[in-house]
Amino acid sequence: MEDKKTIIYIMSNQRSGSTLIENILSKSPQIVSIGESFLLGGYIHKTGPGSSCNWTCSCGDSLDDCTFWNSVYQRLNISNAREIKNTKIVYPKGKDIDYQKEQNEDVRSLMNLIYKAFFDITDCDVLVDSSKEAFYGVSLYQNSPYTFKFIYLKRDLRAVTLSKHKWRKKYNKKNIGLIKLILANYRHRLQCKLMLRKVDKEDVFNLSYEEFFKDPQLVLNQMSDFFGFKTFDMPEFMELSNDHTIAGTPNRFKKRRIQYDDQWENDSKKRPFFNALGFMLNKLG
Ligand SMILES: [Zn+2]
Repeated sequence: MEDKKTIIYIMSNQRSGSTLIENILSKSPQIVSIGESFLLGGYIHKTGPGSSCNWTCSCGDSLDDCTFWNSVYQRLNISNAREIKNTKIVYPKGKDIDYQKEQNEDVRSLMNLIYKAFFDITDCDVLVDSSKEAFYGVSLYQNSPYTFKFIYLKRDLRAVTLSKHKWRKKYNKKNIGLIKLILANYRHRLQCKLMLRKVDKEDVFNLSYEEFFKDPQLVLNQMSDFFGFKTFDMPEFMELSNDHTIAGTPNRFKKRRIQYDDQWENDSKKRPFFNALGFMLNKLG
């Protein structure tokens, strides 16, 4: 029965710890993670985010070669990955609005079949999708054949901004000033909140990255109650183990101790205006 299965969708900004939360949850024998399904099409066709790992599955194989994903394709009755063209649901606008809506509907059906394949192959009854995207998540939520719930994950806007700033430099992206960047991150929060208005409050688990680190086991137990999986011991490390996930933080291939990273706090204090603005924007919600 499909309605017994649960999807946990992580909605958040980038650099907010979504890969960490996804990785922790996937340590339960009841839970399987798909990673960021929104980027699956991009990973198959090697376009968009993911070039740093050559768009491979987290097992290290390409989406053409991964044995796990090949059993997914088999269940979709397709002979190879390339038959999957697009896995993004985007807000329909412009002159091709009807076509866009149709496309979105196709992606929704495809994703429900992929979720089903994951459940069938792994025998898990909970699946984590860490796509983050607000519109995509809410579109999959509406009329979902599954019990579909959200983790709305928020992290201090200053931490998100400084981290994004650092990664943009590392990947030679266009430099955006910190003030502009923090305002954009605040706007992102407003967009998430707007989208969450379409979701039943009882289906949303609000999670603060900072609160999580105060007592990870406690928060994990709360999530277990909320989503209905058996609780388990909080893992010490973030590491991949037999995962076949799409995308996530570029750090994910390295085994790392799970701990709060407070490095940004000093960086932020060196910039009093940025620091104060961030403090205020955090308070606004
Ligand atoms: Zn794989």
